[in-house]
Amino acid sequence: MALIVQKYGGTSVGSAERIKNVARRVARWKGKGHDVVVVVSAMSGETNRLIALAKEVQGTPDPRELDVALSTGEQVTIALLSMALIDLGVRARSYTGGQVKIMTDSAFTKARIVSIDEARIRADLAHGHVVVVAGFQGVDEAGNITTLGRGGSDTTGVALAAALKADECQIYTDVDGVYTTDPRIVPEARRLSTITFEEMLEMASLGSKVLQIRSVEFAGKYRVKLRVLSSFEEEGEGTLITFEEDDKMEQAIISGIAFNRDEAKITILGVPDRPGIAYQILGPVGDANIDVDMIVQNVGHDGLTDFSFTVHRNDYQKTLDTLKPVIAHIKARGIHGGDKIAKVSAVGVGMRSHAGIASTMFRALAEEGINIEMISTSEIKVSVVIDEKYMELAVRVLHKVFGLDQPAA
Ligand code: ASP
Ligand code: MG
Repeated sequence: MALIVQKYGGTSVGSAERIKNVARRVARWKGKGHDVVVVVSAMSGETNRLIALAKEVQGTPDPRELDVALSTGEQVTIALLSMALIDLGVRARSYTGGQVKIMTDSAFTKARIVSIDEARIRADLAHGHVVVVAGFQGVDEAGNITTLGRGGSDTTGVALAAALKADECQIYTDVDGVYTTDPRIVPEARRLSTITFEEMLEMASLGSKVLQIRSVEFAGKYRVKLRVLSSFEEEGEGTLITFEEDDKMEQAIISGIAFNRDEAKITILGVPDRPGIAYQILGPVGDANIDVDMIVQNVGHDGLTDFSFTVHRNDYQKTLDTLKPVIAHIKARGIHGGDKIAKVSAVGVGMRSHAGIASTMFRALAEEGINIEMISTSEIKVSVVIDEKYMELAVRVLHKVFGLDQPAA
């Protein structure tokens, strides 16, 4: 008998019929004698609907009140799923994040989990209940409702699995695992039977939407056994997220191609090339709570240099506004930017032991006439920023050049 945490995403609980389906799956696991804790998202489209509604009322919704509104999506699902379970004769109980208690900090709309009191869940499990918990939400010290950022139910699932020392955390979604890239762009993409945490973390942070990045960090840190599976298939092993030392299988050099259109690029021209300048530019950006991703500073000449970096597209205007006084203060020549860019990355732990990955990538892009605007590398990834309109082409070309295309049947 095992303790299993199952998380079901919005599509998996997108209708009454699908909720009943999930209930049947949960009942099967319970019927095999396992203890089951279920975390659910809001029904698909619901969070977007609530955000749009909030924006109709207040252009930039008050963050505290937005979280009160958004948390209702998951609250509906936990009740409906519990009803469906009870209808099947399974004892079930639902809890909101605040009821559990899932304690978070007070950063509304992107709160972090600080601690989880799992006593109530354990007591219910001991009484033979299936416990159904609302994903994506918690409560701060002052009792305010908070939410964990888009996709946050994954993090709730993994955090609960960590707190309960669960045997496995199963993330049920509308795809049957983690793919080498998005099959909607590359039909030849393949499901990976395993992927390492490090790779998954890179993939998530580079734009792969399968798992929320924070959930992967959590799982790595607390060594939660994490598996991504389809809620629409009866069988299937999905993709197991492994620790590299456990992964004895022959590793491909590149595991996947990730991409993302969520960024914008900002360049400051003619920056005085002197100590402290990066801090003078990025300090205020950080203070404004804007995350910076790639940073490139050119070699200076004549005492001047150019300084470029990327931020989330949503923060583009805010970054420009934040930097306006800074530009004047440091007497830079100007600032420009654009949000029609895309980042494409090749990820794989095999890079550590293989040279030439970056040059293979650059050659493949050059052959397609795709201009690279920025480059960044780590031990296990190479990322490039390119014009958004070539993104799909770049992804297809790289998927092929690194041998990821599905072998013809
Ligand atoms: N309902 C939230 C969202 O759409 C959280 C989640 O689904 O994980 O982002
Ligand atoms: Mg999700």
